[in-house]
Amino acid sequence: MTRRELGRMAGIGLASQLLGQEQGRQIGYCMVGLGRISMQHFIPALKTTKYSKLTALVSGHRDKAEKMAAQYGLSVKNIYSYENYEAIADNKEIDAVYIALPNSMHAEYTIRAAKAGKHVLSEKPMSTSVADAVAMVDACKKANRKLMIAYRCQLEPANLRAIQLIHDGKLGKIQAIESANGFNIARNEWRYTRKLGGGGPLMDVGIYSLNACRFLLGEEPTEIRASAAVIDHDGRFDEVEENLSFTLKFPSGVIASCNTTYGCNMPGFYRVHGSRGWMHLEPAFGYQGMHLTGQIQGQPAIDEPITERDPAHFVREADHFAECILQNKEPAAPGEEGLRDMRLIEAIYKSCGLKLGVG
Ligand code: NAD
Repeated sequence: MTRRELGRMAGIGLASQLLGQEQGRQIGYCMVGLGRISMQHFIPALKTTKYSKLTALVSGHRDKAEKMAAQYGLSVKNIYSYENYEAIADNKEIDAVYIALPNSMHAEYTIRAAKAGKHVLSEKPMSTSVADAVAMVDACKKANRKLMIAYRCQLEPANLRAIQLIHDGKLGKIQAIESANGFNIARNEWRYTRKLGGGGPLMDVGIYSLNACRFLLGEEPTEIRASAAVIDHDGRFDEVEENLSFTLKFPSGVIASCNTTYGCNMPGFYRVHGSRGWMHLEPAFGYQGMHLTGQIQGQPAIDEPITERDPAHFVREADHFAECILQNKEPAAPGEEGLRDMRLIEAIYKSCGLKLGVG
């Protein structure tokens, strides 16, 4: 097919698909940060992805990166430090970066990647301020690069099934949602410092409940009330909240009540109550074992466990973003989606009398 013919087809959206497929081309990912989420989940996922592969590493620990490179058959020339990160611009094997750094570093490393001409998949929370989130969206737009926030639950089958049940009206008129997500945080974690976390459990795990309420209802909350507290005065919560409870009121009238904590194990779940029945997803936000239960009037009980295992979520996430790049499609959770959550997180903190951010 000639370029001219391809150009004509672009008008009906076919050329981009054909160009994207480029005879089975895979998107080369550069990992930025070699911590738990990248080493234990995302990188192992790239062994079985269809449209994605691991091509480079960015780390502050050269020895760790060299070990990882040897394990995955990467050339040492594809190892970068935080200082020479900009040099990724000259590496054609890198199409996209995956940012798996502490929260307050997501903005800087996204913007530097966009300027280097790379697409960006950033971990949640997108940033530690609304201004940073806006700057990330703007930088990727200006560089004509794609930006996705790693909201893996938006691609996960049990969560998609829950959305579908609501969307199809199976639960009737939705009246209320309850959700929770938390864990007992270990000592010496960057997560409970304002400088790197930007906030406490709301930023880290409460964000799952917030995002879920929005994607389940397909509406944006217009009223927010929240309260935060510290119970364990053991030094971990000198800078951020330990417990936070928030309610979101949506234009339909649905009120969602959510809790998050760093003080105890609080299994991630949501329960949706409708006029014709209820459903409960638990775990809702983990890496595997999602289980949807429920009861709809006149129907057999819902009992739908998901059997796929970790790192299936990350295989799906990496390949989804890769396909978006290859076929020039909008990601399921673009930067604007992360920005909406950041605005709401800012409002939740304000309602508690707290401040979002590193200051
Ligand atoms: P981690 O502490 O295990 O890893 C952080 C990485 O950042 C390490 O490689 C560390 O060396 C590096 N780093 C660079 N500068 C640092 C600094 N000044 N202080 C501390 N570390 C520094 O963290 P993680 O659990 O992998 O989380 C990373 C990001 O991924 C966070 O934003 C977190 O919210 C997100 N996350 C997402 C999921 C998910 O399911 N989507 C799960 C866990 C974490």
